[in-house]
Amino acid sequence: MRIPMIAGNWKMNTTVTEAVALVKEMRPELDRIDNVDKVICPPFVSLAAVKELLTRSSIKLGAQNLYFEEKGAYTGEISPLMLAGLCQLVIIGHSERRQYFKETVETVDKKIKAAFKVGLKPILCVGETPKENETGKTKEVLSKQLSLTSSQAYNPGGLTLAYEPIWAIGTGRAASGEQANQTIAFIRQHISKQYGQEIAQAVRILYGGSVTAANIAEFINQPEIDGALVGGASLKASEFLSIVKQTSSFKRAK
Ligand code: PEP
Repeated sequence: MRIPMIAGNWKMNTTVTEAVALVKEMRPELDRIDNVDKVICPPFVSLAAVKELLTRSSIKLGAQNLYFEEKGAYTGEISPLMLAGLCQLVIIGHSERRQYFKETVETVDKKIKAAFKVGLKPILCVGETPKENETGKTKEVLSKQLSLTSSQAYNPGGLTLAYEPIWAIGTGRAASGEQANQTIAFIRQHISKQYGQEIAQAVRILYGGSVTAANIAEFINQPEIDGALVGGASLKASEFLSIVKQTSSFKRAK
């Protein structure tokens, strides 16, 4: 039984003051919702303040990235050791990192390993560009993005995957539930071929790309989809709460 997850990726939005206000607004109601792993991923500079606000809360905290070295002359980077005491999860390989900061399959893999080493649970993002989609390369691209991840990454409670087609991120043009379900089923089959059916059935795979309160039902209704990575809509308390609530009640009704 895979517990659903809704993770909010705040990206490069909110000052510390704004982040604190948003958490204060969401926490009481979010805490009342069970049956779903609730995760928020504010910018690095707000993690410490938000951690304080989440004392004795069921809401989990995640970072949006890390560097794979533990320490040293890497000006401006944030190490896994720095994050280990602050949060429980970390988004790795988001398409914006791959696209704007030239992250590769190899650097993403190093980051996954570095996160596990300090006990951080990665949310690994994979997904194809519009061109790759149009030219029928989606499966090839996803297979490559998943090629280096080791079997240990899939130990119970370890890695969460997020399938995020780049053409759907921040565009308001979400995939259809059926489309997303088919591609996530392919990802599960791919993992099954690599590591076996048991591991493939246990891994959580989220959908991400223009998820809102108005369309979340379409995704969580699908058998292969275990929740969502939410960008824009996670910055509005009422939207995010509604997404989490709908996920909780659908999975309970099942
Ligand atoms: C994301 O940032 O991972 C994302 C899916 O963004 P949005 O929901 O805004 O498309």
